[in-house]
Amino acid sequence: IIPRTKKPDWLRVKLPVGKKYTDLRGLVDKYKLNTICTSGSCPNMGECWGEGTATFMILGNICTRSCGFCGVKTGKPETVEWDEPEKVARSIHIMKIKHAVITSVDRDDLKDGGSIIWAETVEAIRRTNPNTTLETLIPDFRGIKNNIDRIIEVAPEVISHNLETVRRLTREVRIQAQYDRSLEVLAYLKDSGQKRTKSGIMLGLGETEEEVIETLHDLHKAKVDIVTIGQYLQPSKKHLPVHEFITPAQFEKYKAYGLKLGFKYVESGALVRSSYRAEKHLI
Ligand code: SF4
Ligand code: SF4
Repeated sequence: IIPRTKKPDWLRVKLPVGKKYTDLRGLVDKYKLNTICTSGSCPNMGECWGEGTATFMILGNICTRSCGFCGVKTGKPETVEWDEPEKVARSIHIMKIKHAVITSVDRDDLKDGGSIIWAETVEAIRRTNPNTTLETLIPDFRGIKNNIDRIIEVAPEVISHNLETVRRLTREVRIQAQYDRSLEVLAYLKDSGQKRTKSGIMLGLGETEEEVIETLHDLHKAKVDIVTIGQYLQPSKKHLPVHEFITPAQFEKYKAYGLKLGFKYVESGALVRSSYRAEKHLI
């Protein structure tokens, strides 16, 4: 582990390359499609798009929560657009996406937490793109089971919910969330028969190695199948500072530990985002 004085070489952003990337970029620009990959200027676009994977955000661009690490705006959310499911399905069709990750802002203002639009989006994508596989990266829906059930019922191939950080830092990193509630959501998904469950954490926020190990144990107890571990990077000066840059060797160590613990798949590395190489998680 090295201090945060200078961004290390392994975090240098790789320029996206390849014909598939260039073609997709052209379509995204032409049809003004909305992907998290482009809006977040994700460094993994070359790789993910090359494999036909992209991430889409639904339920608007304004979140009811204000997590200290997240670049999404907080405030009064936008009105629900009932044609959004069809729009997302069309984008996936135009981009010929083989594996789509769908995520959303938190909509604590809505009684259903946005779960109806969530379910309709999965169904619209299935109708328009029967061969596209899906991961739904869901909020905690404040732990309300009826809302979580709507997602389980439409049977996406993978359901993920990110724990984001270790227990001690949860309050600071995602103030309106609760570490144990997220674990309960994950356990509930598995107990309800969901085939593949997934969660992700970011490192470099001040957690210790022991706390990371404890978190891996907690995720394993919640019967999570797939874990992603990446480096936290500060979206702007207003966000939580980077405490340290984790070395590639340390990421490898966590990966080995997680696999030994029994996770089916562990993606661990500085540039790993929760949707990085998500198509590989259809194990
Ligand atoms: Fe960002 Fe999700 Fe937190 Fe909203 S709930 S601020 S989208 S991380
Ligand atoms: Fe898109 Fe996620 Fe891949 Fe980044 S990691 S390019 S956001 S699918």
